[in-house]
Amino acid sequence: MHIISQNKRTKVIATIGPASQSEDMILALAKEGVDVCRINFSHDTHETHQKKIDAVHHINKKYKMHLALLGDLQGPKLRVGKVENDAVVLKNGTHITITTKECIGTAQKLFVDYPYLAKDMKTNDRILIDDGKIMLRVLETNNNDALLAQVVYGGTLSSRKGFNLPDSEVSEPTLSEKDKTDLAFIMENRFQWVALSFVRRASDIHELRNEMAKYKKRNPPLIIAKIEKPEALTDINNIIEATDAVMVARGDLGIEIPMENVPLIQKMIINKCLHASKPIIVATQMMESMIHNFNPTRAEVSDVANSVMDGADAVMLSGETSVGDHPLKVVEMVRKIIKQVESFEGIFYKENPPDELNSPRFITDSVIYSACILAQQVHASAIVSMTHSGYSAIKISSHRPKSQIFVFTNNHAILSKLSLVWGVKGFYYDKFESTDNTIDEVKDFLVKNGYIEKKDIIINLASMPIEARGKINMVRLSYV
Ligand code: PGA
Ligand code: MN
Repeated sequence: MHIISQNKRTKVIATIGPASQSEDMILALAKEGVDVCRINFSHDTHETHQKKIDAVHHINKKYKMHLALLGDLQGPKLRVGKVENDAVVLKNGTHITITTKECIGTAQKLFVDYPYLAKDMKTNDRILIDDGKIMLRVLETNNNDALLAQVVYGGTLSSRKGFNLPDSEVSEPTLSEKDKTDLAFIMENRFQWVALSFVRRASDIHELRNEMAKYKKRNPPLIIAKIEKPEALTDINNIIEATDAVMVARGDLGIEIPMENVPLIQKMIINKCLHASKPIIVATQMMESMIHNFNPTRAEVSDVANSVMDGADAVMLSGETSVGDHPLKVVEMVRKIIKQVESFEGIFYKENPPDELNSPRFITDSVIYSACILAQQVHASAIVSMTHSGYSAIKISSHRPKSQIFVFTNNHAILSKLSLVWGVKGFYYDKFESTDNTIDEVKDFLVKNGYIEKKDIIINLASMPIEARGKINMVRLSYV
């Protein structure tokens, strides 16, 4: 099967929803350039999700692909309850009560399922509804179960819209009961990645990891910390250290902090993640206008291009592929932008020297670092490595070498995990006999399948002795 996206380095995550959930559509999206399928647990039922998941597993098996599954947990996201006739008009200047006692919402009274609301909020705090389209300001609170607010910017409100409180710290727990139920479902369905929304501090990541450990799975999903709260920015270094990957979740982030701050924060987080070798995703509104339009705006094209130039591992599509009118066209567009930007030399070789001498991975990190410098110097076509945990693949990728990155592993779960990681192309291989043998065999495989050619220069990374399956400790430079 011909896959158009074969040589694209930056990965694409597509949210699978009503517009894209048939097996045919998921396969078509994958051929167009999608590497990771996101299942958003803020919407739909487990029954619907199960069908999408089964489709992804079936495609992987039938076509020997490694589409990854990413489960996105809602986390402490607040939402308004149901409203009358699913449409209530809030007029500028009017007063409205927000209550934590369940009721059907009207223009005078809205229900929010968050018991600490009246205690967390104070006079003059802002309440933003529906991605900030509607704004209220708190007039007074009874410190118990209700507050009175004034409508500053009104609009039409439908049921279950998101509710942000940018001026106060939300005391909701990291994982709600719903998140725990969703996590149980994720753990039963062989997901490779799980994203946690509204991360506030590094301990949120530890909490999720502890919760996952209870399932005693051999290959638990890796964790993505979604950065969309101001508190997370204060603890960003510790969060990056605690997590396996990061997402700049610009939708909620742009509500919780002034949106003009988001572009520089995106660059700051990407740089920190490249340095820490943690995969980094840029998300939300990348091709927003294509939810209905056949073409993106020029600003959207620039946004995707700039995310690639900044150094993102992956760009993410949300409504564009889940409910939009043109999911395939969107992915085609994103793929073309990525390919075009990747013809620019400036996106490669992000300087990322290894840590001090005494760090536990010092030998591996130093060998990989030198291999990437060597690759640049000799214009190597490929860096080829064995990986058991995926660590070395992510480490090589973090240097953003121009050479292709081919990794071989005997663990299928790792292959799909690596689908999210910049530039990594993984293959299954389970004969680790002697270093010489293995290096020859994988080289023959790459030549036979057209990934490298005679006369190319390649770099091999391995651990000696190979049968010990230890950490990378040697580098070899050769002609094919
Ligand atoms: P969401 O997260 O789509 O789950 O809200 C992404 C974002 O907020 O940007
Ligand atoms: Mn969000």
